[in-house]
Amino acid sequence: MEKNSWGRIRSELRTSLGKDAFNSWIDPLDLIEIDGQVARFSVPTSFIGNWVARNYGEQILAQLQAENGEVERIDFRTVTAEAAAPEHRGDSVTKAAPVVDLPGSPLDSRFTFDRFVVGKPNELAHAAARRVAEGGEVTFNPLFLYGGVGLGKTHLMHAIAWDIQDKRPDARVLYLSAEQFMYRFVQALRFKDMHGFKEQFRSVDVLMVDDVQFIAGKNSTQDEFFHTFNALVDQGKQIVISADRAPGEIEGLEDRIRSRLQWGLVVDLHPTDYELRLGILHSKAEAQLKTMPDVQIDAGVLEFLAHRISSNVRVLEGALTRLFAFASLVGREITLDMTQECLADILRVSERKVTVEEIMRKVADHYNLRMSDLLSPRRARAIARPRQVAMFLSKTLTSKSLPDIGRRFGGRDHTTVIHAVKKVEELKMTDSQIAEDVELLRRMLEA
Ligand code: ADP
Ligand code: MG
Repeated sequence: MEKNSWGRIRSELRTSLGKDAFNSWIDPLDLIEIDGQVARFSVPTSFIGNWVARNYGEQILAQLQAENGEVERIDFRTVTAEAAAPEHRGDSVTKAAPVVDLPGSPLDSRFTFDRFVVGKPNELAHAAARRVAEGGEVTFNPLFLYGGVGLGKTHLMHAIAWDIQDKRPDARVLYLSAEQFMYRFVQALRFKDMHGFKEQFRSVDVLMVDDVQFIAGKNSTQDEFFHTFNALVDQGKQIVISADRAPGEIEGLEDRIRSRLQWGLVVDLHPTDYELRLGILHSKAEAQLKTMPDVQIDAGVLEFLAHRISSNVRVLEGALTRLFAFASLVGREITLDMTQECLADILRVSERKVTVEEIMRKVADHYNLRMSDLLSPRRARAIARPRQVAMFLSKTLTSKSLPDIGRRFGGRDHTTVIHAVKKVEELKMTDSQIAEDVELLRRMLEA
């Protein structure tokens, strides 16, 4: 009965999607079973599964539900030719190419280029990712993306995969975590199927390995990775790698691998700055508002969060999600007060702990001065300007009062601090060198 209803749904999909889309995406699906609330399909590659889930998932689910009200979820499994039941193997003969299953990790449907907010800290990484997705001649190989947790490495890699798959559906794109790579490798060893393993990995057009620092210290996995890497580079296939730090800083990585990783383009994602955080918050809030149109959010809340929450975007997202959930549950608008109450724990953790002394030290270093210069009465511009910058940063990054700050800078009056803050604010508008200095120092101090 279930098979029949799937047959009916298939022919409806053929009509509604058109023949081409149907042949590319729906035809390769086989309904294996309906197990309670889950309808399980087999797919020849995880990419097809991802694609169908993302583009046609809701439609298929709705149609299944119309036939069987219990179904709440669909699940796609990749099944290799041998593992499939005989009637499925029969099918696969009529399909386009013999498919070597790509053992990829699933892609997150939200991680696309159009949902990636670009700012100074990530613009280079974004541009490089775009370039790779465009395809054409491979200009840098590998693309090596690195940066701290939650700065968008995985997001960019998935975006590349989605984009390539969008434009060139027959391209074989394999995205997986380094952990997954190791797991596959160990499985292949255990089941004595190194041949199959190599074939899988060497048949791809684009290979993306996320969090490669994971294989540091794991020697045979590294070896295999090295060979795979070389084989693909030799064939002119694109490789994209991510890690939490630069290749040179990953301990336990063999030298030959380290140097290979540096061959291509190495780009880092910098910690977010205020503008990027605000941009991300705006974009995420807009997305949330689409699903919860009744929630009101006060002006100033997003600015407050961009100021107060650390550089990790994941934490930022979590904060926003919690605010919206809270607001929709209690039917309140999101005010500044409510934000402070609802996010007290997150805000406490990311409270700035920068001290005036640290600011003085960093500023003195930056301008090649001694700390004592900043405290001294000297008024030469080369000393007075850095002193003003340090006062400005003390006012904006700590909660110290003006008189307190004045006292720490060699017993100066609070009006001197006010003057310094005004002066630096002015200069930031007119003098790009000062603006850059302040931004750089602020970033170092907040890191
Ligand atoms: P990483 O892999 O670097 O640890 P992720 O790519 O998993 O970080 O990003 C963490 C979260 O932050 C994800 O939900 C991602 O969508 C989001 N994110 C990170 N950077 C951006 C950005 N520039 N624009 C939109 N969302 C972002
Ligand atoms: Mg990641």
